[in-house]
Amino acid sequence: MSINWFPGHMAKARRQIEESLKKVDVVIEILDARIPYASKNPMLDHVIGEKPRVVVLNKKDMASKQETDRWINHLKAKGVYPIALNGKEQNALKKIENTVVEATQEIFDRMARKGINPRAIRAMIVGIPNVGKSTIINNIAKRKVAKTGNTPGVTKAQQWIKAGSKMELLDTPGVLWPKFEDESIGQKLSLTGAIKDNVVTLDDIAIFALKFMQQHHLDELKTFYNINIDADTEIVDIFDAIGTARGFKMSGNEIDYERVTERVIYDTRNAKIGQFTFDLAEDVE
Ligand code: GDP
Repeated sequence: MSINWFPGHMAKARRQIEESLKKVDVVIEILDARIPYASKNPMLDHVIGEKPRVVVLNKKDMASKQETDRWINHLKAKGVYPIALNGKEQNALKKIENTVVEATQEIFDRMARKGINPRAIRAMIVGIPNVGKSTIINNIAKRKVAKTGNTPGVTKAQQWIKAGSKMELLDTPGVLWPKFEDESIGQKLSLTGAIKDNVVTLDDIAIFALKFMQQHHLDELKTFYNINIDADTEIVDIFDAIGTARGFKMSGNEIDYERVTERVIYDTRNAKIGQFTFDLAEDVE
């Protein structure tokens, strides 16, 4: 499902999003609440400019609640309208609608003062692949739109669809490329399923995940795998401990590192060990 982004795709995606932007009052940018920094497209700020923006920290059910609150404060201070969301939840429409109304209040007040008849607020959803754009559109517009994760930019035949009584959405989201700037960002994108595993090697992703948890969530890590480690345990010993606890052994009683690796990635990606946020707001500040 992932896209291989070439410069041509990126230029096209950018152009199409610039075109769509002209038609909307507000942009709804979807980020993954577990990686609000890594899941942000690097060029979007520039293209959106001064247009009102709602930033959705989606998949909040898999992120650290405390860290999500910090991110909300951080984003508010930047002058955008943030909300934390589970894209599948019942009241997603109400939450997005309230925030979109708030973000566009000034524009519509101005229109009212000029005597222009009120109309629906026009919005578009944008974000990198797999952050939950289609899930949110389907949920709030109460209809099934095609999965668009493998189409850079936006497809041509866009239509307006109603989302609640106050909003109209472009039915195809803007699909933007992820950051490629450094290895740890690639590992975070991979760990959360935003990019395909083979882009970054699996061992590196598992090592990244284990180091992160050892540093920030040691108790959850110990409890989940029922292992006895501490903050100074070497990473290879953590692999050994998990392999032993889970019985991931090969012939000759050797630890099956491949199985440990896959398991750690699966458990982390699906928030089985705990609800973690891998980008800390304080690091960005
Ligand atoms: P898109 O590529 O941005 O359109 O992403 P999708 O809407 O296809 O979502 C990618 C995956 O994330 C799917 O498996 C969704 O079911 C899942 N997903 C979307 N939103 C949420 C959420 O808030 N919480 C959880 N746990 N999963 C979500």
